Amino acid sequence: MNEQREYLKPLQRLRMRRSKTIVLVALLAVLTMAVSVVGVERIANKLVLYVRVAQLYAQDPPRKIVMPLQVPKKQIANTWHAPRGVNRLHEGQDIFAPRGTPTYSATRGYIYNIGQNGLGGQTVSVVGAGGRVYYYAHFDSYAPGISEGDYVTPQTVLGYVGTTGNAQGTPPHLHFGVYTSTGAINPLPLLTDRPEKKGKKGKRGKGKG
Ligand SMILES: [Zn+2]
Repeated sequence: MNEQREYLKPLQRLRMRRSKTIVLVALLAVLTMAVSVVGVERIANKLVLYVRVAQLYAQDPPRKIVMPLQVPKKQIANTWHAPRGVNRLHEGQDIFAPRGTPTYSATRGYIYNIGQNGLGGQTVSVVGAGGRVYYYAHFDSYAPGISEGDYVTPQTVLGYVGTTGNAQGTPPHLHFGVYTSTGAINPLPLLTDRPEKKGKKGKRGKGKG
């Protein structure tokens, strides 16, 4: 009997080990599937965005774009290529408005990047026809629900005017930049006044801070 037990023990152990292994493998399979479904979806979304951006590249860039703020164009003091510090030029235009003023996309296109950086603070980049990139910086906050890959129009709010990044301590403003494949261009000649909104003004309450 004893001998038989001694003989059976390893077999039982093996069986137990095997069932544990099966559970582990099953768990791993489920986990791998979950991860790959999310991953594949994310990759697919990126691919769709790349295809759309490629299509935009084939189009001519617009000659006119809409003011991203409900502010008359003539209020912009031209600061294109104004010296900033020792070895930097201002590669855009600053549009001053109260903190929390909604900032709309100046064009149609796709949100290419939503991100924070030292100079720009909270920024959004939109890629439009001709592969041009429109850069919006110093946001107090982002428009709720926006995400990279979103299709936008001049009616889409991207964020709210603020002083994030190197605008801290300055009056709230939007830094607006336009970039082509060869570098920044002056947005001012492209800008046209935003049509007046009928009915209620597109203003949101005061932003935080
Ligand atoms: Zn600026």
